[in-house]
Amino acid sequence: MSAPTVEKTSGGTRAGAFGNATGLSCRECGHLVELGPHYACPECFGPLEIAYDFPEVTREQIEAGPANIWRYKALLPVPDDIEQSPNMEPGFTRLLRAKNLGRELGIDNLWVKDDSTNPTNSFKDRVVACALSAAVEFKAKVFACPSTGNLANAVAAAGARAGIKTVVFIPSNLEKPKQINSAVYTDSLVAVKGNYDDVNKLASEIAGEEEGWAFVNVNVRPYYAEGSKTLGYEIAEQLGWRLPDQLVIPVASGSQLTKVHKAFRELIKLGLVEDKPYKVYGAQAEGCSPVSAAYKAGVDAIRPVKPDTIAKSLAIGNPADGIYVLDICRETGGGVEDVTDDQVRDAIVLLARTEGIFTETAGGTTVGVLKKLVESGQLDTSLETVVINTGHGLKTLDAIADRVGPTATIDPSYAAFAATGIA
Ligand SMILES: *Cc1c(COP(=O)(O)O)cnc(C)c1O
Ligand SMILES: [Zn+2]
Repeated sequence: MSAPTVEKTSGGTRAGAFGNATGLSCRECGHLVELGPHYACPECFGPLEIAYDFPEVTREQIEAGPANIWRYKALLPVPDDIEQSPNMEPGFTRLLRAKNLGRELGIDNLWVKDDSTNPTNSFKDRVVACALSAAVEFKAKVFACPSTGNLANAVAAAGARAGIKTVVFIPSNLEKPKQINSAVYTDSLVAVKGNYDDVNKLASEIAGEEEGWAFVNVNVRPYYAEGSKTLGYEIAEQLGWRLPDQLVIPVASGSQLTKVHKAFRELIKLGLVEDKPYKVYGAQAEGCSPVSAAYKAGVDAIRPVKPDTIAKSLAIGNPADGIYVLDICRETGGGVEDVTDDQVRDAIVLLARTEGIFTETAGGTTVGVLKKLVESGQLDTSLETVVINTGHGLKTLDAIADRVGPTATIDPSYAAFAATGIA
C-alpha cells in the first residue's frame, strides 16, 4: 500500500502494463524486486507479492465499471485497457441472502457468495484472468498450470479464448467431469500418476527447463494470486460498501483466504469501507487438513500431509500460503476447522435443499465447516456471516451419486404414486 521505489525500471514491459502495481515485495523480508515473471525472493526465497501505489479510488468509479472483476482494475496488476483483450470476464457473482440455511443452522444473518457461476464454474476464473494478463505481457508461448481440477478448466478455457497455447497438468485420479471440462478446451491435458503435490513439483521443473512457459500458479503466481482479492472487494461492495462480521473460506493452498483479507485491508486503507473487526475462518477436509491440524495444535509450522479426501479441489498436502492463513485466522479471532467426507456430502445436500445452490465438494467442505463451527460453539451466530461457495456441483457428481436419486420408481398410475406416500 505504501509507495515502494523499485530501482530498475521493468525493462521489456509496456508502460502501465501492470496498472498501479509498482513492484514485487517479499512477504518475509520486504525486499523489493522489479515487476517480472518472478515469484521467489532473491534474498530469502520467500514468496513475492504485488506492491502498489494506489491513486485515489472512489466507489463511484468502481460502480461505473463493468459487471465483472475489471471494475476493480485500479486495484489489480493489469493495464487500464484490460477489457479490450479477450478474456473470460469472470466475477461479480451473486451474493445471496441465505435465510433458509441460516434458519437451519441458527445463524440470523447469513450470506452465500456464489462463485460457482463463473465462466468455468469455479472461482479460479478470477485468478486465471489476472495471470493471463501477466502471461501476455511477458510474451509467454504457453499458458500452463498444475491443477487440482478447477484451475485446469479455467486455464484451458482462458487460453483458448485468448488464442494462446495451453498445457494443463492434473493428478490422473481426478474426477472425470473435471478432466472433460479441461480437455474440451485444450489438446494438451497431461494426467500425471501422482497427487497434486507431485504435479506441482513437476510443473516447477518444467518451468525451469522450458523457455516462455507461464505457469499461472508457479512463476506468475504473484499476479495470479491478486485475482482472489476481487472476491473480497465484491463481498464488501455487494453488502453496500461494508465488511461482514465473519467469513468462512475454503483453504487449498491458502491463497484465496489470504487475498480476501488483503482486499479488506486495502478497502479500509483507501477509505472505501469503514474499518471494523472481522473474523476469518478457514475450511479444510479432514483427509487433507494440514492447516487445521497446525491451528488446533497451536503451532506455527505446517506439517505436509498426503491427501485422501473427496474434496479433491482442496487436496493440497503442502499449502504454500498455509502459514499466512494461520496468522490471519488467529489474528482476526477466527479459526480453522475440518470436516469428514461424509460431512462434506451432507453439506452439499443441505445447501442444495435450503438454498437451491448446487456446490462441489469444496463448497460442501466450507458449508460443512460452517455447520461444525456453529454446533461446537466456535462461531457467534448473532454476527453477520458470509460463506464462500467456490465451485459447481456438476463437477463432482460422483460424490453424492449414492445419496440422491429417484425417491421412488413407479408404474405410471395414480395408485402407484399414492403408494409412495409422497403426496
Ligand atoms: C482452488 C480452489 C479453492 C482455493 O484455493 P486456494 O489455493 O486456497 O486459493 C477453493 N475452492 C475451489 C473449488 C478451488 O478450486
Ligand atoms: Zn525475502
